[in-house]
Amino acid sequence: MPDNRQFRLARRPSGLVDATTFALATSAAPAPGPGEALVRALYLSLDPTNRIWITDMEQYMPPVQIGEVMRGYGIGQVVTTNTPDLAPGDLVTGMLGWQDYAIAGPANPMQKLPGGLPIPIPALLSVCGATGLTAYFGLTDLGAPQAGETLLVSAASGAVGSIAGQIGKILGMRVVGITGGPAKCRHIVQELGFDAAVDYRAADWREQLAAATPHGVDVNFENVGGDIMDAVIHRMNLHSRLVLCGMISGYNGGEKSLGDFTQLLMKRITLRGFIILDYAPRFMEGVVQLTQWLMAGKLKHQETVVDGLEQAPAALNRLFDGDKMGKLMIKVSDPQ
Ligand code: NDP
Repeated sequence: MPDNRQFRLARRPSGLVDATTFALATSAAPAPGPGEALVRALYLSLDPTNRIWITDMEQYMPPVQIGEVMRGYGIGQVVTTNTPDLAPGDLVTGMLGWQDYAIAGPANPMQKLPGGLPIPIPALLSVCGATGLTAYFGLTDLGAPQAGETLLVSAASGAVGSIAGQIGKILGMRVVGITGGPAKCRHIVQELGFDAAVDYRAADWREQLAAATPHGVDVNFENVGGDIMDAVIHRMNLHSRLVLCGMISGYNGGEKSLGDFTQLLMKRITLRGFIILDYAPRFMEGVVQLTQWLMAGKLKHQETVVDGLEQAPAALNRLFDGDKMGKLMIKVSDPQ
């Protein structure tokens, strides 16, 4: 059996993860049992929720325990198999974990990807994967979007936000994005077609927000929380919708400003939190729609691919300092 490098949770971090958060160990890859397959990791998705999983806060999945292999979603390739459902060479997606090799089987089901897709593997983890689906269902199902309305997206140059904003444009909305720095602001307007951008790193970001939303905000696709969410709530219209997708500004601890909830009452705002796993029965519908838009040239996507499993802990922090564009992922190995 080949060597299997594994990152195991060593210590719950306070703040950003550091060299003491995970322990890297190498052992032999496991042998698949009856009904199982051995899968080699190709790409590993880095997601803000990874940081939540290593806390012991109440959450939507059990926290990763100290000593466990770090949970991680990704795309892998079947190496050896004891199940008729998977053949060597098949691409699968599922919880691979932060390791070179994982076992797919009843205890850890993985989804086989159709062969011959005209879509690069990284895009299957981004625009056509869980992040694209999050944008699609969050906006279309919970946002009740209407053409002509104003959609506000925070973390707008990121994996979910960049797709949510472009879907808003496809649906005929005026789309305003909040992102960090002039280059990302230019990117979402000039490359992705947003109508306006707000640079939250600029001192005058609140004024920029007001100027960019002269008719208020009808749908807030909220990815950040904290002061940004609070400021946006104050721009929201009567009977507007707040799709609570994420609150990344609080994931590393510190102050968790919730925003001025009296405005939800005054403006009769509908707030819906969601976790994309809720939509699992409808994933195929979302993938088909996203793929159609992608093939029609209506959706652009970008990935920041970091080479090497050993980079995973340091790369995770790039979700929080913004040192990346679009979807962040680790390339673990090449397909064969
Ligand atoms: P992104 O690709 O958007 O990366 C995170 C981005 O968040 C950073 O690039 C940065 O934007 C921004 N950010 C980080 N910290 C702060 C801060 N303190 N203030 C303002 N902006 C900040 O990640 P994803 O697209 O994967 O996730 C976006 C959000 O969606 C997260 O909150 C995540 O938890 C949530 N999510 C929710 C899901 C669900 O099922 N509900 C599923 C998937 C994601 P910038 O680059 O502009 O500086």
